[in-house]
Amino acid sequence: MTRKLNFFAGPSTLPMEVLEEVQRQIVDYNGKGLSMIEASHRGGMFEDMYDECLADLHQIMGIPENYDVFFLGGGATLQFTMIPTNFLLPGKVADYCKTGTWANKACADAQKLGKVNVYFDGTDSKFTTLPDPKSVKPSKDSAYVYLCSNETIGGIEWQDFPDTGDVPLIADMSSDLLSRPVDVSKFAMIYGGVQKNLGPAGATLLIIRHDMLDKRNTNLTAYMDYGLHAKEKGLYNTPPVFSIWVVKLVLEWIKRNGGAEGMLKRAQKKSSMIYNVIDTDKDFFRSPVDPRYRSRMNVVFRLPNEELEAKFVEESKAAGMLGLKGHRSVGGLRASIYNALPEEAVATLCDFMKDFAKKNG
Ligand SMILES: *Cc1c(COP(=O)(O)O)cnc(C)c1O
Repeated sequence: MTRKLNFFAGPSTLPMEVLEEVQRQIVDYNGKGLSMIEASHRGGMFEDMYDECLADLHQIMGIPENYDVFFLGGGATLQFTMIPTNFLLPGKVADYCKTGTWANKACADAQKLGKVNVYFDGTDSKFTTLPDPKSVKPSKDSAYVYLCSNETIGGIEWQDFPDTGDVPLIADMSSDLLSRPVDVSKFAMIYGGVQKNLGPAGATLLIIRHDMLDKRNTNLTAYMDYGLHAKEKGLYNTPPVFSIWVVKLVLEWIKRNGGAEGMLKRAQKKSSMIYNVIDTDKDFFRSPVDPRYRSRMNVVFRLPNEELEAKFVEESKAAGMLGLKGHRSVGGLRASIYNALPEEAVATLCDFMKDFAKKNG
């Protein structure tokens, strides 16, 4: 079997070693006579694995003790509702930015639930740039400042984060979770769907500082209440066990490959390889985004016209490279190069790009 080179934006490529481990263990987990995905989530082998998974997250991400860490279902999208439902209380305002598809969706949901101030709106630039972190100032009576650390579709990524003082900072890190070291203590809450960088779809990782939970709306239905999930370590109802198990295996893979620092080195190397091809042939390739905020996870680029872009997608597919078509909302091309994608896959793409430019330029 030859594996395709997988540039899908999510769900996305997983480390080969992890897939093989799943294959080995899927019928009989560690000689227990049943699979991880057939076992009760109460006590026993699931909970032992889950506790190790949470401990690994604490260690690899450097999460301080005063944070709750757990997983929920419902995707990152459910958090667009849960965050304002828990934290945007009457008399307060939440500071949102509109930096692209994902921050915009979160902002739109919050606007239905409470008072929102938009501190940055990238509409005029077609969402190709971000605010200077130093310019971000919370409103008076701000409940929290919100941002999306990496806009997966637009291909822009915050390189540094704002300092919001005593005002809680909340970040959607779905598409750059564990692609770099992050000072978790700067955030009151970090969350992300795991299906971009950490595992299969189904689980959303939540990291919430204890003092945030004291400030939450306490008159909520059970599932909507972060306090209940934190108290139950994410096991109030059945967690997405398959997804969590594979995340645990991916975390072990990250540990073997240099941790968050190692992931940053991989991401810097791989992304600069593609940006170099783009910058070297400016007559043919164009990066539409502000160079200061280029994403290291989702490299977005354009060709001279849409016919060539369609041809690029077709020919790259024939050459074994999947997922290079840009999101249907923005067009163009996009290479998602998450942690698990090997450098050799990126080298193959770069050679293909240069060759395509030579033939069609
Ligand atoms: C994919 C993505 C989402 C949506 O995730 P779902 O799990 O599909 O709800 C939200 N934010 C970002 C940054 C994403 O990349």
